Amino acid sequence: MTRARCLHTFARSTPLKPADLPRTSKTGFNPAELKDPLVSLPGVGPATAREAARLGLATLGDLLFHFPHRHEDFTLSKKIGELKWGEEATVRCKLRSIGLQRTQRRNLRLVKAVVADETGYMEAIWFNQGYLAELLSPGDELFLRGRYEGGGRSVFRITGHEVLGKEEAGLHTSGFVPVYPTTEKISVKRLRGWLGKVRHLAAILADPLPSSLRAEMMLPQRSDAVTAMHFPRNLAEYKQAEQRLIFEELYLMQVGLLSHRHHFENERCGARLGPAGALTHGFISGLPFNLTDDQLRVCEEISADLQRPAPMQRLLQGDVGSGKTVVAVYTMLRAVEDCRQATLMAPTEVLAEQHYFSLERMFAGMGLRLAFLSSRLKAAERASLLEEIAGGRIDIAVGTHALIQKDVEFPALAVVVVDEQHRFGVRQREELVNKATRGGVTPHVLHMTATPIPRTLALTLYGDLEVSTIYSLPAGRREIKTWLVPEAKRTGAYRYIREQLDAGRQCFVVCPLIEESEVLEARAVESEAGKLAAGEFEGYTVAVLHGQMPARGKQETMRRFVAGGIQVLVTTTVIEVGVDVPNATVMMVEEADRFGLAQLHQLRGRVGRGEHDSCCLLFGDPKTEQAVQRLQAMNKISDGFELADIDLEIRGEGQLFGTRQSGLPDLKLARLIRDQEVLKLARERAAEMVKRDPELALPENALLRDEIERVFGESVEWLRRV
Ligand code: ADP
Ligand code: MG
Repeated sequence: MTRARCLHTFARSTPLKPADLPRTSKTGFNPAELKDPLVSLPGVGPATAREAARLGLATLGDLLFHFPHRHEDFTLSKKIGELKWGEEATVRCKLRSIGLQRTQRRNLRLVKAVVADETGYMEAIWFNQGYLAELLSPGDELFLRGRYEGGGRSVFRITGHEVLGKEEAGLHTSGFVPVYPTTEKISVKRLRGWLGKVRHLAAILADPLPSSLRAEMMLPQRSDAVTAMHFPRNLAEYKQAEQRLIFEELYLMQVGLLSHRHHFENERCGARLGPAGALTHGFISGLPFNLTDDQLRVCEEISADLQRPAPMQRLLQGDVGSGKTVVAVYTMLRAVEDCRQATLMAPTEVLAEQHYFSLERMFAGMGLRLAFLSSRLKAAERASLLEEIAGGRIDIAVGTHALIQKDVEFPALAVVVVDEQHRFGVRQREELVNKATRGGVTPHVLHMTATPIPRTLALTLYGDLEVSTIYSLPAGRREIKTWLVPEAKRTGAYRYIREQLDAGRQCFVVCPLIEESEVLEARAVESEAGKLAAGEFEGYTVAVLHGQMPARGKQETMRRFVAGGIQVLVTTTVIEVGVDVPNATVMMVEEADRFGLAQLHQLRGRVGRGEHDSCCLLFGDPKTEQAVQRLQAMNKISDGFELADIDLEIRGEGQLFGTRQSGLPDLKLARLIRDQEVLKLARERAAEMVKRDPELALPENALLRDEIERVFGESVEWLRRV
């Protein structure tokens, strides 16, 4: 006979942590009782209320939305006579006798009881809960949860109990019992008790989803779904409730993002440009290569945006080396062609300067007026450059983000390209747009990122942008071999690098990441360089590049490296983005296990940019399962998009999404990877809604509108303000 098992636990794949929970009140438009503070519950004082605030629980309504992360299934309660050995079960019984027993083992105290129901009796024991001997008395009705164990003389080892006849009867040991995120001071039993008291309030929750949508998608009412999240009658009911609330969460966010975009496009005056002309056509046909299909398609997507009256807000994503720069240049030339100005901004001065030089090369003989607004300019030089820009005598200005400061006057700024600004939140993007707006005209903005963004994130973190993607690299690119090198083979690795250097190639050595301190990181770089210069790379030119060096020193070093004057560059992740040295063929990373997957992929992208075979040598001793997975992924996969998906899977989206800077509310129930399909559906439905009623002004959408404003909380400011 099979052993009956009735402890069935169902959990969401990612349990909620207290940190995932909302800080804001949950029940904006609902009747007053939902807004009552927690202290209105019996037995809840100010101290408890403060503790509950840590879980994001301020009101009775908040409690309803404090969902359990799993349930225990106690639906199958048993009779004593039916219990089988080894079985875990719940029984309803009557206490016959109870007493305390000390054991030989120190500190272990047993409470022994005899309990009975109409089918028989048994011995039951509690461990270390001596006070129960005082508290309980013969005749008490009990629910006992435990395991029936032992040989000839079986006992029931109790893991949980509840005294019946109280108001909460069965709350903890019968049916599907919710298990909540808790704090040290607020136990799961306490939360269950509170929920038991407020559950009737779920019935008055209004439903923000339009009833037609709900009917069409066969979703349960919000009030029923919330009740079923806590107290489902069966698994199916719970699942349905969860799906409905996940959809609601994603739908609200998508309607919010899309209506924001609609608002942005409607309210802003853009710099509508004419079609491409001789300048851009001349530039494209003058390139030493043909544009790839992806590049052509993306240019067309951008071109369509530029000719619309609304300002473009587009994200261009493409793996390292996929040729985003040409697309950026194309976009800027379209502005120049229309007698307007463009800027190209990079996150660091090193990158900005690189861009400046490569633009200079590309534009040779085209008669364009280019400027580099460096932080090294003397006051007088800067002033005169600003004057040139203000006088409209500069077509394209290159620099860091300082370029968009208020004192830089652009009379006709039509295109802004922002390079490598991954992890730029909705709010920062908006700030940038505001700063770049001159005389009421908002320029077209193209954000470029070399960190491929999984589709789910593109729809959420970047859900306010249009996305263009370059999927494939220009033909003829060589794959970069990636090796995980064990310590035992270190000497061999250095020998290989020396062979490369002797053949005229160059090499990067990236030192361990020290997130806490740039100073320590710099020291590590200096000492590693010293060691290598005196040891393995004696007789070769070794130089350092790190964040602590003055800007001038960094640029000088980069220039020498690009020119081939430095053979081995010992560095940090400052080298991560954008650096383009086709002659560099080896990327050696120390303690690679400490880097993120996106970072490693970026580092690897620094080599393999020329005609030579290149490789990436990863050292390090991964100490966590995640680190092992990251390094294995690097070893096996070269495609950035695939890596981005895996990264999301390894890390969970919490870290990517929960960032405060994203400007979006945290997701409580939805998980982007698991719920991709629901997300797609929510996006489609949201798009239909915003098309029909962009301002959510129709009376039937009033609840939806209120709920979006409430959920987005403080972020709603950017939703409405443009
Ligand atoms: P990223 O997308 O990383 O910014 P870049 O724009 O720097 O890439 O391009 C990488 C290299 O590829 C550059 O040297 C560039 O000239 C070259 N390139 C760009 N497009 C093509 C193409 N269609 N065919 C061949 N080479 C290309
Ligand atoms: Mg680039």
